[in-house]
Amino acid sequence: MRKKFIAGNWKMYTNRDAATKLASAVLEGAKAVGGVDVAVCPPFPYLGLVADIVKGSSVRLGAQNIYPEKEGAFTGEVSPDMLVDMGCQLVILGHSERRHKMGEDDAFINKKTHAALAAGLQVILCLGETLAEREANQTEKVLDVQTTKGLEGITAETLGRIVIAYEPVWAIGTGKTASPQQAQDAHAFLRKRVSQLVGDAAAAKLIIQYGGSVNPGNAATLLSQPDVDGALVGGASLKQDQFLAIVQAGA
Ligand code: PEP
Repeated sequence: MRKKFIAGNWKMYTNRDAATKLASAVLEGAKAVGGVDVAVCPPFPYLGLVADIVKGSSVRLGAQNIYPEKEGAFTGEVSPDMLVDMGCQLVILGHSERRHKMGEDDAFINKKTHAALAAGLQVILCLGETLAEREANQTEKVLDVQTTKGLEGITAETLGRIVIAYEPVWAIGTGKTASPQQAQDAHAFLRKRVSQLVGDAAAAKLIIQYGGSVNPGNAATLLSQPDVDGALVGGASLKQDQFLAIVQAGA
């Protein structure tokens, strides 16, 4: 039985005050809900602040990116070791905003994945098709390529520290959500592909989150699908009541 995992991607939102209030509210709310894993992923500048708030609790702390080197002359970048040092347990990689706005490709995302794992971080590896790709019936092909390249060099053992987030690009921040059946079909396809790559046992344990305009109104139905093991939540993760209602839906 896979435990549901709900993670909040705060993107480039909040400030010191809002991050403090939001993290404190998630901490309190999550305490009251058992049987579900919860993580918050604030922007880099507020990681230390949120780390102090969630320290010692079951709420995991994640970052939204890394640069895949231990240290060096990489102005403006942040290493995986720095995140661990700040108290992070996980990092979101391959988010569609980084793929499409920052031009990150599968090979670079795979390099980051290995660097994050080597530092001891858990990885939420995001992938998903664009609207044009879905309309051209290319969804499975795109998911196949992103999974194969994104997981290159990953073994059954290291897969244990990877979560896949299926995030159709057309559903992120748009208010459009994949139907529960569309999500289930994509998740089942991804699990099958992962089992071909690393084996049935590891694939059966893999947590596959859905992301794309998840809200308190659609969370329960999406999360009731057999291969939907959680949610990566953007917009609704910035509103404590909404995020906690989604957490509750996963319990
Ligand atoms: C995301 O940022 O990963 C996301 C799914 O955003 P939203 O929930 O706002 O669509």
